[in-house]
This record gives sequence, structure tokens and C-alpha cells, in this order.
Amino acid sequence: MSKPDIIVPRVMRDVVMRGLAEHFNVHKPYEAADPFAVMAELSQTIRGAAVLGQKVDAAFLDQFPNLEIVANFGVGYDNIDAHDCSARGIMVTNTPDVLTDEVADTAIGLLIMTVRELSAAERWVRDGSWKAKGAFPLSKATLSGRKLGVLGLGRIGKAIAKRAEAFGLEIHYHGRSKQKGIAFPYHATLLDLATACDTLMIVAPGGEDTHHIVNAEVLKALGPSGIVINIGRGTVVDEAALAEALADGTIHAAGLDVFEHEPNVPQALLDLENVVVLPHVGSASVHTRDAMGQLVVDNLVSWFRSGRAVTSVPETPQKS
Ligand code: NAP
Repeated sequence: MSKPDIIVPRVMRDVVMRGLAEHFNVHKPYEAADPFAVMAELSQTIRGAAVLGQKVDAAFLDQFPNLEIVANFGVGYDNIDAHDCSARGIMVTNTPDVLTDEVADTAIGLLIMTVRELSAAERWVRDGSWKAKGAFPLSKATLSGRKLGVLGLGRIGKAIAKRAEAFGLEIHYHGRSKQKGIAFPYHATLLDLATACDTLMIVAPGGEDTHHIVNAEVLKALGPSGIVINIGRGTVVDEAALAEALADGTIHAAGLDVFEHEPNVPQALLDLENVVVLPHVGSASVHTRDAMGQLVVDNLVSWFRSGRAVTSVPETPQKS
């Protein structure tokens, strides 16, 4: 039997490229002088796509009328119009669970770095300030006694909450609905969550529904000892409002792993001492990225073997 034709618009980790090559005819337009011409030639042939952050919108889908499945590398899939895929009968998969612990660990690391000013403290040693000026100034904030508001108590949000509980933090959460069997106080609005807490942990997905929901009003409600950690998606935060709130003392500090227009980070944020910035490294260990890559391969293999994916997104559920 001939192997199904798969498109990989952007090169992916070895584990993905090797795994796909075993089972599929893999097309790599990025290797061609004119990738668009290659994509046009393949229009009728392609039945699957493995994507890494590329936009999968109507224009992409129109190009491949025989596409059956889009396998995303990453649990967040705001790059894919999953509703449109669903309307066209195209399966969408992501890579949940295998990255949960890694991202939760990073989130806690970023929280502590931010609260205790650890990246500035490290710079103090490296630039000779310790010898020249003496002890690093005491951090103005402490982790002790903080009330952590989790925006998006899903797989990663719960793993963060579990870790934060071990640090003695009080946990609250907001999502679109109250969850059964969860004892943490639920707040029906984000504003209520921010009012009840002094630390906001953003773990909600990107997309239209969450666009800039962390705005000036929410930041004001968090208050002057407020700390914002964003491990979810940059688009959730109004970055201009955040920079203003950090500059004028409306909130105390922020730790950011994700940004609205990556890899561009607003200069207004970079100019501030009370911001810790990371280059979207939430899941970025070899171990976890390989596990994510294997799941991309497993989804495609399973689909073409059995008509069932391993981890479909809610917009394109498995047919029973
Ligand atoms: P998940 O299990 O689907 O959890 C998402 C949570 O967000 C759910 O609890 C959901 O609760 C809530 N939510 C969804 N839409 C919302 C809305 N409009 N308003 C408020 N809450 C909303 O996903 P996950 O595996 O935990 O991943 C969460 C996100 O983390 C991903 O989408 C991705 O963007 C981000 N992420 C970042 C990194 C990184 O490297 N920084 C790595 C992995 C993932 P309700 O359904 O009750 O609203």
C-alpha cells in the first residue's frame, strides 16, 4: 500500500522527521527554492500536516482539499482555526499531558525568580557588583502568604496549583465555569479573581476569547503588591497596559515566558527592572520536546491506521 502524503511546512525535531519518514511520504517545502510552488503542486496529494506554530487558516485549508488531519506540535493550538477544520471534517490534534509537569515546573521557577528578583541578583554577581557595591538589595516581595489566582485551571494550571500548595500559597481560580470536585475558591469573573488575589498565574489558552483579557482594570485590582506570571499565551495580556502598570507601581512585578508578537518583546517591558523575561521555554527541555514530537507522529500514524487520533482537540472530537 502506498504511504500517505504528509506536509511539514517548517522543519521539526529529529524525532518527528525520522518518525514521519518511516510511515509517510514527507514533503518539506522549506527545502525548495520556491516553497509556494511546491505547495501548489501538492495541492491534491496532501492528506496530513504536521505543524509547529504555522497559521492553519482558511487559506491554508483551501490549498489542500484532501487534508484529513492537522497534527500540532504543542498543546496550545491558537495558530489553527479548529472550528473551520471541524466544519470541513478535518481532525486536529495537539500534544497535551506530556508537557504538563515541565511547564508547571517552569512556571514555579519563574514565579520565584520574579518574587525574589533572582535574575537581577545573578547579574549582580556576574557584573562585579557584589565585590564593588556589597550585598544585593533585599527583595521587596516574598512568596510567603501570597494568594495565587490561576487563570485557566486546566492540566497545567492544576499541576502549578499542586506545586504552589506545597509552598503554602492560597489558591483561587477563574475559568469559564466552576469545576466539579475542585475545592479552590472559584471566581466567576477575572476581575473578581484579581481582586481576591495578589498573584496572577496566567495559564489560559490564546485566541479571540482570551485576547487582552488581562487589562488595565484587572491589573489595578491585583494591587501594588501584585505579581503577574504569564506561562500561557502572550495575547492574553494587554502588554501596553502591563508595561504602564509596572512602571507606575500599579503592580509590583511580572514574570513573562510568552509575548504577543514573539520573538519581539516590547521595549517598554525590557526597560523595566521589575520584569523577568524568558524566551518561551515553558516546555523546552530535550526530554519533553521529544515526547511532544513522538505524540505528533503517533497521532498521524494512528489516524491513517485506524481513523482515530490519540489526542484530538475538543473542537474535533473522535467519532465513536
Ligand atoms: P487545558 O487543560 O485545556 O487548560 C486550559 C484552561 O483554560 C482550562 O481550565 C479552561 O477552563 C481555561 N480557559 C479556556 N478558555 C478560557 C477563557 N476564555 N477564559 C478563561 N479560562 C479559559 O490546557 P493546558 O494543557 O493546561 O494548557 C494551557 C495553555 O498553556 C495552552 O493553551 C498554551 O497556550 C499554554 N502553554 C504554554 C507553554 C509555554 O511554553 N509557555 C507550554 C504549554 C502550554 P474552562 O474550560 O473552565 O474555561
